[in-house]
This record gives sequence, structure tokens and C-alpha cells, in this order.
Amino acid sequence: MKNIWIRNTIVTAAVIIVTLALAFFLLPVPGVIPVLFYHFVGTPEHPSKLFVSKKAFERQLAFLKYGGYRVLSLDEFYAVKTGKMKPPRRAVVLTFDDCSNWCFYCTALPIIEKYKLPVANFMVYDCALNGTQDSMSFKQAREAIKKGVTIGSHSINHPHFNEIDVHVLRNEIFESKRLLEKELGVTVEYFSYPFGVYTPQAAEFVKEAGYRMAFVTGKAKAAAHDLYAVPRAKVSSSSENLFDFWFRVSGLYGALRNLKH
Ligand SMILES: [Zn+2]
Repeated sequence: MKNIWIRNTIVTAAVIIVTLALAFFLLPVPGVIPVLFYHFVGTPEHPSKLFVSKKAFERQLAFLKYGGYRVLSLDEFYAVKTGKMKPPRRAVVLTFDDCSNWCFYCTALPIIEKYKLPVANFMVYDCALNGTQDSMSFKQAREAIKKGVTIGSHSINHPHFNEIDVHVLRNEIFESKRLLEKELGVTVEYFSYPFGVYTPQAAEFVKEAGYRMAFVTGKAKAAAHDLYAVPRAKVSSSSENLFDFWFRVSGLYGALRNLKH
């Protein structure tokens, strides 16, 4: 009796290990490219779910680098989405949002440089202009671009897009592109909706302004194939656990979220 119990336990453990190993090597399936988004890297004075510690961030990048993942730049991701590039196996995209990047330039960027991975940072124009909440300055952003960071727009003032007048909405989208381009000397081709709030009107303006793609967060219920409503998976303090991080990178997180919609 005891022998049967031991045998069953060994078989069950072996099945779990083989399944996890297969999932690790096979996911995400070709064509599925999870887009992750971070808010802050560092340790805040008061605990916040939006923060990922420097140590965990470095562990996550090392996991991607040495775990056989291909981190795509936004230009490469766009090329895949528009059929100009074959989707690489086990690809992933890394993005940063927000006004206060908790000094993205001094905490996250040195680690990104160390692992030589492409990332995108969506800037809020007004925060950079006024140096609010540790936002990257334009000078730092120009340096970051030289180090390979793609800068996108995250609006001028970070309003809720479903609560503002249509003229203000248009201005937030068009002017943030123009002003960022003027300050940074590059073409700003990607947009991230503040608070992840997607509206069809906002998507129309984003398209009309000449952006190539726009990103939402997990809450938006837009079509996943839409270039102007690309879903993303949030990386927060819970992803300090590498299994949780893998779950987001594997595409399973996005697949489960779609099932819920
Ligand atoms: Zn934001």
C-alpha cells in the first residue's frame, strides 16, 4: 500500500515538473508577444504595489536575457504586428509608464544598460517640463534615447480621457507628440493612454496624429489585434516572485484575462 502511494507521488511530481518545463520552453506560443509595463523601479518610503525593487528588476531582466527570451523594441514589435517581420520565438516587450518614474534614469536605466535590452518609456510632457515627481527631465530623456530607450507619449497632463472635453483630448494627443518631438529631436511614434483609459475617440485622434500604435492596460476591453489598443500586463510588487513574473511573460496572464472579458 505504502509503495503504491510513493509511486503515485513520484509520478505526480514528475508530471508536474515535465509540464512546467515544457510550458517554460514552449510559451509564449509563436505570435503571442506579451507587452509588460512597469511603473517604478526602486524602494518607496511607503509600501506600494506599483514598485518593483531594483534587485527584483535585475533578476527579471537576467531571467529574460539568459532564459532565451527575445526582448523586442517597439519598432520591432510594430514590424511584427504589421507583418513586416516574422514573430521571433518567445518574444516579449518591456515598457514603462508614468509621470513619476521614480528616477527611471538613475534606478532602472543602469540595469537596462547592463543587460542591453530595449525598453520604451512613455513620458508625460508636463511632468518632464516641471520636473514633477521624479519624472525624467528632457535632458535625461535625450541621454536615454542615446542609450537605446524608445520614448513614447503618455499625454501632456495625464488626465482621464473619458472625463475631458473633446478639444482637450485632441490637444493632449496631438500636442504631446509635437512638444516631445521638439524637445527630444526624435519622432514620437507610440502612445500610452493615461490610466489605461481607452476610448474610441481617443484612438481615432491617436491614429490621426500619426502615432503607429497605442497601448492600454489590463482594464481596457478593446480588441487585442487593434494597433491602437495593444493590451499590456502590469509588473508590480507581486512579480518580485519570479514564478509570477514568468506567468506574465508566458502569455498565460493575457490569455486568462481575455477569457474574463
Ligand atoms: Zn500613467
